Amino acid sequence: MTAAIDVRGLNKSFGDKHVVRDVSITVEEGRITGFLGPNGSGKTTTLRLLCGLLTPDSGEGEVLGLNFRTQSEAIKRQTGYMTQRFSLYEDMTIEENLQFVARVYELDNRPARVAEALRRLGLQDRRSQLAGALSGGWKQRLALAAATLHEPRLLLLDEPTAGVDPKARREFWDEIHSMAADGLTVLVSTHYMDEAERCHDIGYILFGELIARGTAEEIVARSDLATFNAEGPDIEQVARELEDRPGVLSASAFGAALHVSGTDRPALEAAIAPYRRAPFRWEEVKPSLEDVLIQLMGRKTDDRYAS
Ligand code: ADP
Repeated sequence: MTAAIDVRGLNKSFGDKHVVRDVSITVEEGRITGFLGPNGSGKTTTLRLLCGLLTPDSGEGEVLGLNFRTQSEAIKRQTGYMTQRFSLYEDMTIEENLQFVARVYELDNRPARVAEALRRLGLQDRRSQLAGALSGGWKQRLALAAATLHEPRLLLLDEPTAGVDPKARREFWDEIHSMAADGLTVLVSTHYMDEAERCHDIGYILFGELIARGTAEEIVARSDLATFNAEGPDIEQVARELEDRPGVLSASAFGAALHVSGTDRPALEAAIAPYRRAPFRWEEVKPSLEDVLIQLMGRKTDDRYAS
């Protein structure tokens, strides 16, 4: 496997705000990496630094085999960038938008590239529709066509499916996977756990630090979290009672099921012991990615206030 990104010691401040803290990251070619983390944690800034859109204060390494500090112009030319706010011209048709992007990038073989993008993203039949009249899902598809028209090797997607319906999201992800299978390396920032689970790898960013990295399974397997599920009557009341017990990091009701997690197993088991009787049915389950990320967030926040 070849590394598309291999960068170490990345830092970026805006004024006195240290937004990206000593991030080191390797991403293999053709992989889809999802960046998760609360708002303002530095996901977008990290993505922009990696593709040369922003200059870091420090850091070294290679992106697409190029020196990431001295050859950022060449990296930028091979990067596609799609943000949540699609910058398309609403009063132009789909085809005109793509032709315009092709001219701005001064691409060769413009008609062939536009035709190929229309075909690949299933936009042929709608080529004459005004971009402004499209639904969220079709606009997003057009934005993806525009961001990949110059056949980038690296694609950055900043919260790409915010406000898009589930069917369009699924189709969008199918398309991203097919592009990655052809060798495109994709970095995605997202808030959606299901979207993160569609990525090959995950990076969890908190207060500008990359605190977890790997596949969803690896991140879950590395955690020391124990999780129990319970079913029974009035489960929301049990959730409220358990919430503040020692050993319980989180207790939440999902419909008729209760989900309780903690890292101190004896304390957790002691907390749930009074409820481990009929009519409640308990079983230990594997923590979900969301359980683990919530726990990591809590731990990091504690460290921060402790220091
Ligand atoms: P995320 O994508 O995780 O929401 P961002 O990378 O967008 O986080 O932002 C991280 C922090 O950096 C935020 O506090 C944001 O306000 C700040 N920030 C981002 N871009 C700039 C900028 N160009 N100038 C000043 N502050 C910025």
